[in-house]
Amino acid sequence: MREDHQAAVHGVDEARLWQRHMEMAQIGATPNGGVNRAAFSEEDIRARRVLAGWAKARNFAVSMDGIGNLFVRRPGLEPDAAPVLAGSHMDSQPRGGRFDGIYGVLAALEALEAIDEAGVKTKRPIELVAWSNEEGGRFAPCTMGSAVYTGARRLEDFLDVTDNDGVVLKHALAETIAALPEAAARAFNAPAAAYIEAHIEQGPLLEMQGTTIGVVTGIQGLRWFMIEVSGETAHAGTTPLKARKDALRGAVQVMQALGELTHDPDDIVRFTVGRMLVCPNSTNSVASQVLFSVDLRHPDPTTIRRLSNAVEPLARKAAAPCGVRVTPTLWDDPCVFDPHVVEAIERSANSLGLSNMRLPSGASHDAMYMARVCPTGMIFVPCEKGVSHNEAENARPGDLSAGARVLTAALLDLANR
Ligand SMILES: [Zn+2]
Repeated sequence: MREDHQAAVHGVDEARLWQRHMEMAQIGATPNGGVNRAAFSEEDIRARRVLAGWAKARNFAVSMDGIGNLFVRRPGLEPDAAPVLAGSHMDSQPRGGRFDGIYGVLAALEALEAIDEAGVKTKRPIELVAWSNEEGGRFAPCTMGSAVYTGARRLEDFLDVTDNDGVVLKHALAETIAALPEAAARAFNAPAAAYIEAHIEQGPLLEMQGTTIGVVTGIQGLRWFMIEVSGETAHAGTTPLKARKDALRGAVQVMQALGELTHDPDDIVRFTVGRMLVCPNSTNSVASQVLFSVDLRHPDPTTIRRLSNAVEPLARKAAAPCGVRVTPTLWDDPCVFDPHVVEAIERSANSLGLSNMRLPSGASHDAMYMARVCPTGMIFVPCEKGVSHNEAENARPGDLSAGARVLTAALLDLANR
């Protein structure tokens, strides 16, 4: 690593980074130590104002696009060169934790400040981005800001979405944008040279292995199905078993068959039945109809396609003599991150002497959409017991700053290409 780059990386200030997490955690703090910071809420606006204040204190330029994605820019030697972006989100689940999302934003700010303090000039500008409404807990769906920014979805499709209190998104969004008049207007989907998102792992692997840095290779694919098994209701006391078309028994057989299909000695396939509706749902009646959900995930495009294609024929066979209808309801292909960004992150971790491992992301992130428009990667740091989307979410200051140092080194690398 170049000497000036080294100075910047070692300028990452663990105490400042931690202090900012604690300051942000006050905004929407919940009684059990978590955070409730819904998208476009009063708390979201306060968090944005605090972030913009820190940016302004450094003379970094602040801008915002039409869905409220917030950008903080440190210029490069070539002002018109496509910037390298880093960030995540500041909104939370209703009972969320102090690190999910906000870590990627504060790590990016820490990187910008450390680079600035070291006086390092980069060829490309570096920009922090805080994506709007990643969680989708107030206004569905999730990852809205990055979906609109990258052109995967249209802003107009979301403007009339309402929250549980009947608040319309376009009004909450207009308030959010008006609350930050110093932010310049910005267009969607400006060219980007690369994007890196730092995030807590939200799973237990790094902690289990005693590894500090997760070099994320991609985001696993996701398939949802609703499976309807149809039989005939009958008297539980009088109908011989051989004469039944028991939809619940059929459903259990289907689940068993799918469990065998998705059995994986490496424990990479994720197969979940999380919802079930039984009709007539009566103790002394044979079930006439069962509806249940299937959530299937895998990082490899070929594997998830093979498994998904097997669901319907397998269900049909296993449910006999009952009938089966399989309806796919969600289809997100696996996202494979750019090898150059993955290598830049890995190289940065190695040059800092930090233990690291490659792993796919089990959860969705804004990086999924950015990967469609520019070379993208992610950095994971451990979180306590893998707990996330929970007020108990926790992470260690040393791990957070290690991730910020890797981010800083990788940004400097990519911003000089
Ligand atoms: Zn998140």
